[in-house]
Amino acid sequence: MAVIDSTRSTHEVINQPPPLEGHNLLDSDPSLLEALERENAGWGIDRVRDTGALAGTREAREHSQRSERNEPVLRAHDRYGNRIDEVELDPSWHWLLREAIERGIHSLPWTDPQPGAHVTRAALMYVWSQVGAGVMCPVSMTYSAIPALRTDSAIAGEWEPKLTSTDYDAGALAGMAMTEKQGGSDIRANTTRAERVGDGLYEITGHKWFCSYPDCDVFLTLAQTDAGVTCFVFESSDPGFQVQRLKEKLGTRDLPSSEVEFRGVQARIVGEEGRGVPTIIRMVNHTRLDCLLGSAASMRAGLVQAVHHARHRSAFGKLLAEQPAMQNVLADLAIESEAATTVAMRIARAYDEGDAEASFRRFATAVEKYWVCKRAPMHAAEALECLGGNGFVEESGMPRIYRDSPLNSIWEGSGNVAALAGEDPQWHARRVVEDLGVALQASLLVRNAPSAVADAFCAARLGAGGRAFGTLPAGVDAEPIVDRALAV
Ligand SMILES: Cc1cc2nc3c(=O)[nH]c(=O)nc-3n(C[C@H](O)[C@H](O)[C@H](O)COP(=O)(O)OP(=O)(O)OC[C@H]3O[C@@H](n4cnc5c(N)ncnc54)[C@H](O)[C@@H]3O)c2cc1C
Repeated sequence: MAVIDSTRSTHEVINQPPPLEGHNLLDSDPSLLEALERENAGWGIDRVRDTGALAGTREAREHSQRSERNEPVLRAHDRYGNRIDEVELDPSWHWLLREAIERGIHSLPWTDPQPGAHVTRAALMYVWSQVGAGVMCPVSMTYSAIPALRTDSAIAGEWEPKLTSTDYDAGALAGMAMTEKQGGSDIRANTTRAERVGDGLYEITGHKWFCSYPDCDVFLTLAQTDAGVTCFVFESSDPGFQVQRLKEKLGTRDLPSSEVEFRGVQARIVGEEGRGVPTIIRMVNHTRLDCLLGSAASMRAGLVQAVHHARHRSAFGKLLAEQPAMQNVLADLAIESEAATTVAMRIARAYDEGDAEASFRRFATAVEKYWVCKRAPMHAAEALECLGGNGFVEESGMPRIYRDSPLNSIWEGSGNVAALAGEDPQWHARRVVEDLGVALQASLLVRNAPSAVADAFCAARLGAGGRAFGTLPAGVDAEPIVDRALAV
């Protein structure tokens, strides 16, 4: 038998990029830094920079990968058969969520409501989403629950201090349970019933087909009363709240999304009886903003990896980043990402502006929630391809970005529903909303971005660009665009 000489070397590892780590996710992203200044949140820069530094560490990346690898497990019963409804989560999930909560990503504008607070929070959300999208679901729901809870001062008085606390262990998290088996968009068709049992209390019986993060302490839900669909709040410690199973999902695999049943859950009304939809919409408007931010963050995360790889990998004797066909792809991905970041931060400012921007806030959130979320999966696929086969391999982080990327478009108003919120008539809704989305992005870039970025965006998206990414027309100055895309 031949003996293998293990000291004999087969090859040297060359032409593989170093891991991208130790960079600050704010300082390497000029478009975000400029947006913070422009949208009244200059005071928040140090706070975002601190989060950006942690987000760029190997520690953060490893927690993110581990949390994704070790998916949550439902323990519905204990060994004796008693219901316990516990979800086992990896310690890395808690690390990621704890950092988000301690940084106030779920609460900043409610605890420190100064101009620019929603923008600062949006930037924190955008930066930490690049580490892991899953934990941002309870973070977003907790942030978004506050405007709905504030329709009842007693309930808000009881829950707001806990929900806005930055103490991960002593504070509380809020979730939302609206979607039922027969329909999520058409929530007026909910079948879950609430019966009055006196003293302002109701008992809810029914089910919800999606309920992300059943570990939340308190939930907003919808149920029918004699007056129609009504918004309720209940505590998850109620013994009538039962988790049936966890979904096996395409993406956000570390986030437990469950199916739940309500067996006489005790709940209180939030807002007016029979006016549950307008009450919960106060929450949904904020989660929609976070869908937009999440998709902008996903594009940014993919772009950064693509540019980094191309700067270090050679093919045919030249760095990929120096080859015109790759420059076209990278510049195209970069302008799409910058447009998404710029518009998301501008819309976040509308949440700081109160009544003065109410119409813009409502309309632009729906339009850009539709458009930016729609672009994310295509962007993720192209960014992944820039890494070649490495991009298809789990440890590059790209498959996770790709798997997660369709979610924001489904959540909180799936594509058509978001488009219909932005425009009628229905047949043309997507086309019109798409045009509106691109027009708003272009106008912001023309006013605020370097001319190379704005000119390329207008030339490609309003003019003669192709259909796939990497089809920017002649005359685009790719080099400054790609340099700006990753300032490290
Ligand atoms: C990972 C994950 C986590 C989730 N977590 C939660 C949660 O925590 N809480 C919660 O309440 N929900 C949650 N959801 C549910 C989500 O909000 C719904 O899936 C979503 O609202 C769509 O509802 P649906 O699945 O019933 O689809 P449907 O409402 O049946 O829609 C199906 C399709 O029809 C389209 N459509 C609907 N109405 C129209 C119309 N009038 N005209 C044209 N097209 C239309 C939609 O755009 C969609 O493409 C989660 C979903 C996912 C995937």
